[in-house]
Amino acid sequence: MATTTLPETEIVTSKKPSTKYVYFFGGGKADGNGKMKDELGGKGAGLAEMTNAALPVPPGFTIQTEACREFMRHNQVSGEVDRQMEEALKHLEELQGQKLGKGENPLLVSVRSGAKFSMPGMMDTILNLGLNDQSVEALAKRTNNPRFAYDSYRRLIQMFGNVVLEIEKAEFEKVFDAKKKQRKAKLDTDLDAKALQGVITEYKKVVKKHAKRDFPQDAHEQLVMARDAVFRSWNNERAGHYRRINNISDDLGTAVNVQAMVFGNLGDTSGTGVGFTRNPATGNKEFYGEFLLNAQGEDVVSGVRTPVHILQLEKIMPEVYNQLREITTRLEKHYRDMQDFEFTIQDGKLYMLQTRNGKRTGRAAVRVAIQMVEEGLITKEEAIFRVEPNQLYDFLVPRLDENDIRPENVLTDKGLPASPGAAVGQIVFTADEAVEKAGHGAKKNPVILVRGETTPEDIHGMEVAVGILTSRGGMTSHAAVVTRGMGKCCVAGAGEVQVDEHAREMRVKGQVFKDGDWISLDGTTGRVMKGKLKTVDASQDDPELQTLMGWAEPFRKIGVRANADIPRDAIQARAFGAEGIGLCRTEHMFFAEKRIPHMRAMIMADNEKDRRAALKKLLPMQREDFAGLFRAMAGLPVTIRLLDPPLHEFLPKREELMVEIAVLQATKPKSPKLKELKKILRRVEELHEFNPMLGHRGCRLGITYPEITEMQARAIIEAAVAVEKEDVKTHAEVMIPLTATLKEMQNQAAIVRRVADEVFKEKGKTVHYLVGTMIELPRACLIAGEIAKEAEFFSFGTNDLTQTTFGFSRDDINKVLPTYLAEGILKQDPFAVIDREGVGELVRIGIERGRKTRPGLEVGICGEHGGDPSSVEFCHQVGMDYVACSPFRVLTARLAAAQAGASEKLKVEGGRTK
Ligand code: PEP
Ligand code: MG
Repeated sequence: MATTTLPETEIVTSKKPSTKYVYFFGGGKADGNGKMKDELGGKGAGLAEMTNAALPVPPGFTIQTEACREFMRHNQVSGEVDRQMEEALKHLEELQGQKLGKGENPLLVSVRSGAKFSMPGMMDTILNLGLNDQSVEALAKRTNNPRFAYDSYRRLIQMFGNVVLEIEKAEFEKVFDAKKKQRKAKLDTDLDAKALQGVITEYKKVVKKHAKRDFPQDAHEQLVMARDAVFRSWNNERAGHYRRINNISDDLGTAVNVQAMVFGNLGDTSGTGVGFTRNPATGNKEFYGEFLLNAQGEDVVSGVRTPVHILQLEKIMPEVYNQLREITTRLEKHYRDMQDFEFTIQDGKLYMLQTRNGKRTGRAAVRVAIQMVEEGLITKEEAIFRVEPNQLYDFLVPRLDENDIRPENVLTDKGLPASPGAAVGQIVFTADEAVEKAGHGAKKNPVILVRGETTPEDIHGMEVAVGILTSRGGMTSHAAVVTRGMGKCCVAGAGEVQVDEHAREMRVKGQVFKDGDWISLDGTTGRVMKGKLKTVDASQDDPELQTLMGWAEPFRKIGVRANADIPRDAIQARAFGAEGIGLCRTEHMFFAEKRIPHMRAMIMADNEKDRRAALKKLLPMQREDFAGLFRAMAGLPVTIRLLDPPLHEFLPKREELMVEIAVLQATKPKSPKLKELKKILRRVEELHEFNPMLGHRGCRLGITYPEITEMQARAIIEAAVAVEKEDVKTHAEVMIPLTATLKEMQNQAAIVRRVADEVFKEKGKTVHYLVGTMIELPRACLIAGEIAKEAEFFSFGTNDLTQTTFGFSRDDINKVLPTYLAEGILKQDPFAVIDREGVGELVRIGIERGRKTRPGLEVGICGEHGGDPSSVEFCHQVGMDYVACSPFRVLTARLAAAQAGASEKLKVEGGRTK
């Protein structure tokens, strides 16, 4: 094959009188080009670009995304789309010298979706379109392979029936399995032409029964129906779900690619495969992929048969192999990124079906970016954007503790290391069961989804599982690709493991495992172990990671702090690069076993004296905690929030108390414990609130019980003085929660400052500290100018601010959210990604008004959003000084902040909001 240079073509953006809906590619040139992803989708743009470069691409045409948007608006496309499609089809027929579904050599086409952002397997595909009762005979004759022809036809009826006519796949599978049983066939390929003819007859009956119509014999009707079904599939449940997880807009729509079929299942000189120009798991520069001889398209990616390594192709068809290497190397150079490609070999001739930037693990992303800088393919600045901040999590994923692995517990070591890390969890066999058993929040339960293979329908279960194990499929199977994107541990193609999803059991090495049994996966090596193994935390001083961060960090303008309550977390956070503590939730310190009795005594006290006595017991414990944090942070800011939650949270639950009292009343009515419990119950009832989130909490606690603020202020300042006496610098920031008025702020700040002065006097030493507030209420944002008269810093508590701005309870939102997301009422969970229009606008106002009063006011964020890349970008844009997030998100936040800085400085799109 001639080595042509891929041309750089310009996008034509000038408005045309009528929309160009259909873009042809074939015969060495294409109407579109690689930059037109908005119109042609990733796949269509790639096909156009490859065609322009004279690569062997089967010809066809792309119906652009505008037609899909039109379809979504009117539930049909305009006549102009039909007209342009017919014209393109005619062109294709001329080029091929064939007619769609007609004549001795009928043209057959594939109809595939292809959106701007790759959504692997989420939408629908139809192959072999154009086959009908006549053309199947022509194909049989022409190929001299009736088995192949009938197999292609039955696949079409099945795909068309499922995708277009919306008949359950299982209906077709039943027929197929029955035929296999009848013929005592083990494999699909054991069914001969005659058997397949029988299958076709039965399939047609299935269509008639469920769709109340015949399978369409008119190829043009097939094409129109298939096109519309692909458009419709943009809005199917799994595609919508995928878009939400990946932050892709619902409004984009998909393009449809109609392309002349090439067959990989014509015998042993045919095949089909997928590959990567580098290893997508490790990033190593090695040709990587899989193929199957005598197989069609989806057989490789669906994982139904376990394919062989692409390097084997060199032995089987050396010329094709060399051509493939040459083409893919060129594609990588052209796109300046690792490519993920699909190819088919038909009777010894190679065809490229797709190329796109390949999905990869976080570790691979970093390695590929660095290698490409070294190879001169990209600049260091570009390399910064080649890694998704969330992917850095890979560097933090735990590994299995090798000391805990005993040989007899290794069930298999022959699984494929599809996505790195370790997962320890309980077996579930279906996606729904995974969702059901995985639980939420404090009730979270680690589950491992075990399947023969996964399909796009499993996406919701894969999302909640800690790991995935499949017995079939390769490194590019659905399970492998999706988990790598999610940064989730996966062992795929573990052939020694037999999974029976119906019987809900997994068999391996003569042992049977049921749902609920514990297993451990090692996604880095492909091992599966029985039991609940220990894991070891990752080390973040990977030299390649350091290199990339070294390039990125100079662009970062805003600081990154961690939310940490105990010294151990603070030390961990510093190791990840945290530049201080943005939020220490002091209440977490009170829940410790030894402390809760004193906390309860404080709450139970019905007079100030008793309350002070209890607080006095808590003081030294708090002081020691704070000293630990100051030591860990060695002079970096430590932001400590005074007690925030309503007091009843520290007491036993009302219902539990009532049960205990009833039991004691019946068994030991005279016991002193009963008296005590009754007293607690009375207090619990006194403290009961209908809306505790809007109740006696935040600064309202410190205002009604000033002695609590006094004790905490004393513990903080005494700890700072003590640590400074050890010659360690401190920087305390005392944070008053949930203020809504200047007077609240003044009230609490006065207490803190008075106590600090008392401590300084007593100890004969002063330390530097600030008193500021959390901004968690819309009113606080609006009167931020007032609050800033007293507050020396602001930290936006966007969890509560989102709750109070939307009026959504953060604890109960899950009842509403799934529907809101499915209906498109909300695009994202506002508790995960900051709502820029509403909550974000309040933040912007708060910063502006606060700084007007107090120029240089230090501003940060400590809600969950502080670790979300899109929200970090927003925080950068509104001029915050820092973001704060949990220790394990610090690295992600650092890179997201650096990307935000770099995209501003280099005037490139950060690409956060797709
Ligand atoms: C917040 O509300 O954003 C916050 C950080 O505080 P908490 O989550 O403890 O209410
Ligand atoms: Mg809060």
